[in-house]
Amino acid sequence: MKVRGAVIHEIGGEWKVEDLELDEPQDFEVLIKVMASGLCHSDDHFVTGDIPVTLPMVGGHEGAGVVVKVGSKVSRVEVGDHVSTLFIPACGTCRYCARGMSYICNNGAGMEHGMAMDGSARFHLADSGKGIGGVTRLGTFANHLVCHESQTVKLPKDIGFDVACLVSCGVATGYGAAVNGGPVRAGDVVLVMGVGGVGMNAVQGAKHAGADHILVAEPVEFKRKMALEFGATEVFPSIEEAKNRIGELTNGQGVDVAIVTVGRVDGDLLGEAFEVTGKAGTCVLAAVGSYEKSIAISPQDFTNFSKRIQGVLYGLCNPTVDIPRLLQMYKEGRIKLDELITNTYTIEQVNEAYADMHSGKNIRGVLIHEH
Ligand SMILES: [Zn+2]
Ligand SMILES: [Zn+2]
Repeated sequence: MKVRGAVIHEIGGEWKVEDLELDEPQDFEVLIKVMASGLCHSDDHFVTGDIPVTLPMVGGHEGAGVVVKVGSKVSRVEVGDHVSTLFIPACGTCRYCARGMSYICNNGAGMEHGMAMDGSARFHLADSGKGIGGVTRLGTFANHLVCHESQTVKLPKDIGFDVACLVSCGVATGYGAAVNGGPVRAGDVVLVMGVGGVGMNAVQGAKHAGADHILVAEPVEFKRKMALEFGATEVFPSIEEAKNRIGELTNGQGVDVAIVTVGRVDGDLLGEAFEVTGKAGTCVLAAVGSYEKSIAISPQDFTNFSKRIQGVLYGLCNPTVDIPRLLQMYKEGRIKLDELITNTYTIEQVNEAYADMHSGKNIRGVLIHEH
């Protein structure tokens, strides 16, 4: 079938909105009519080359939509179901899924090529017929996509697609960074560095877990203001400017949990976060960063203060359990999702949307597909 999608062709290029040919779903695959997609910072990392992927590629991995066709062996969802997409599959049976760590499911291997699990393409460029991948084997910047059933989770039908798409990545990642990654405990002093689409949910997670003090370091004034509405207790333009207050609150020892959710992290910034992490504290890294092997930390502090650095993918969540749970919490008014959406865009406005993200205008932009 003919579909329309935003494709990135080269590092440093612009998103190009074009017609694509989409194959039929195979045995274990589903065809999804994508209704909404989060405009996540990660997709921009494929444009900048911070995360190397095989180009050209259809963008987008935070999707929500309706199942319109299923392969002959699909059992997880059926036609008509509302679903959100999982950027890491949750197969349920591999070594990691079986141990409650779907966020590192073995079937996530090779997803940088964006092809289906058998290595073949589902999207094809309209002019040449060349097969191309979709981001994380999805491609939610197209108005339809085909993916493996293990990359879907069924949604309640009374949830808006616009908020549902965000829960499939940014919300789960940020919330889980605090609740699972810290884990933040009642009474903790927490610092969140960077409050975009992920960090804002780390603030919500820390609040939900019962932190006494949730400090935020964020250079953009609008985001600092929003963070106070999401549960931050104090906001600062930088870690440096938060240091005095951290000292006052912790008898000079440092925070219990420092969560790094900036747009792009490097070894120096991680070093700063580690430094303000206190004795027996955890420095949580839930950000995309450089592949350089350099973190500016003192090995002696690491040992003497029994600190931890915890890497966090997908908020250490098991999405088939945690996505429905987060949506239930939203329905009960215990987490904010509508407030995360600063602006919505059409597919033709994808480049504009990313320009807005870079200029700090958005907590999260959402692409609404027209059908
Ligand atoms: Zn994302
Ligand atoms: Zn698995």
